[in-house]
Amino acid sequence: MKNSYMEQMYREAGISPQVYAYGEAVWNSLKSRWEEIDAISEYNQMKVIKAMQKNRVSEACLMGTTGYGYNDLGRETLERVYADVFHTEDALVRPQITCGTHALALALMSNLRPGDELLSPVGKPYDTLEEVIGIRPSRGSLAEYGIAYRQVDLLADGGFDYENIKKAINEKTRLVTIQRSRGYQTRPTLSVLRIGELISFIKKIKPEIICMVDNCYGEFTEVTEPSDAGADLVVGSLIKNPGGGLAPIGGYLAGKKECIENAACRLTSPGLGREVGASLSALSAFYQGLFLAPSVTANALKSAVFAANIYEDLGFPVAPDGKESRHDIIQAVTFGKPEGVIAFCEGIQQAAPVDGYVTPEPWDMPGYDSPVIMAAGAFVSGSSIELSADGPIKPPYAVYFQGGLTWQHGKFGILKTLQKLVEKGIIVKDFDRRNL
Ligand SMILES: *Cc1c(COP(=O)(O)O)cnc(C)c1O
Repeated sequence: MKNSYMEQMYREAGISPQVYAYGEAVWNSLKSRWEEIDAISEYNQMKVIKAMQKNRVSEACLMGTTGYGYNDLGRETLERVYADVFHTEDALVRPQITCGTHALALALMSNLRPGDELLSPVGKPYDTLEEVIGIRPSRGSLAEYGIAYRQVDLLADGGFDYENIKKAINEKTRLVTIQRSRGYQTRPTLSVLRIGELISFIKKIKPEIICMVDNCYGEFTEVTEPSDAGADLVVGSLIKNPGGGLAPIGGYLAGKKECIENAACRLTSPGLGREVGASLSALSAFYQGLFLAPSVTANALKSAVFAANIYEDLGFPVAPDGKESRHDIIQAVTFGKPEGVIAFCEGIQQAAPVDGYVTPEPWDMPGYDSPVIMAAGAFVSGSSIELSADGPIKPPYAVYFQGGLTWQHGKFGILKTLQKLVEKGIIVKDFDRRNL
């Protein structure tokens, strides 16, 4: 297609020819990255199709049950498909698991008993887990049930503090929780390889420890999952990567049979376990979402790599940087002033197919110590595999960006952020990119 048609289309969507040309130059410089990301998604696509075929997914599996949900063929088959994708003995995949935090809380509360100790050898866990564990006192936390918590921070260079991890493991240590994604912190995301190294170190000290990985945002970014590297349990949200943008709710746990049975009995009730839990009308979206997930994750990765390279080239600190390999879909860009964070979020919002006419504003969200701005125009409310961004309005004024069901949408979103930053005079540049 003639470039001028494309330029005209973008111009009608509010992208100036200069911003468009600059974006094209950056995009075209990343061809080898796109090939690498496509190869990972091709491999994972095959993994998902093979698991579906092996388990004889049929049209009947797409129908849901109501009431108690006994003999739910689709639910039981889907759980076997997940177990095969993650190469685990078993899995629990349910619409009754309301979100990622719930899935993680379920895994912890069902596999720990009073008197046990939980260890995080990778520093502070995701914010919402602080209340689950009781780091911040909270009703119903693990702490209230007499489950203690220890934490060993990462070293300054992001490495594991093996010496102190060894010291922290004792006769009470029952479960180790390892967060793969950086979440909203500055520490690096852990590759499956590094997670595997950590797990084998821990298992050498105490083989019976349950190694759990918070897999949120990490699924399908690599050709292996933490469960291929020794994790006993991997846990995540269906409104992130594995739901492929279609799952309207849900969470999953995949791992050792024993761990999954414990979780099922906690999710429903002792004695009932996994036998109940009607899937209602969620199954078709769960299957189709999982089918699309490798490709959707690749699109989100491309959007993140594009953002990293654009803003790195413009001189802003970005994490991961433009060249690094990826182990999750999150991209941080530090603007150093509130106006940058706000303009970026406005750009993402105005690229959205839903609520694209809305202007996001910082507000005092419960649980945060500063105003937070969030941009999301999603088909599934709060879904962060869809193009979204948010940032706390406090130093260093960084924005966290993730998702993009299609790379075309991700690309448009990033161009829109750049257009906003230029229009507001936050970026002053003539856009002749010399180093390409
Ligand atoms: C999103 C996320 C969670 C929590 O998931 P919610 O669905 O928001 O409850 C936990 N851990 C990490 C690393 C996450 O990215």
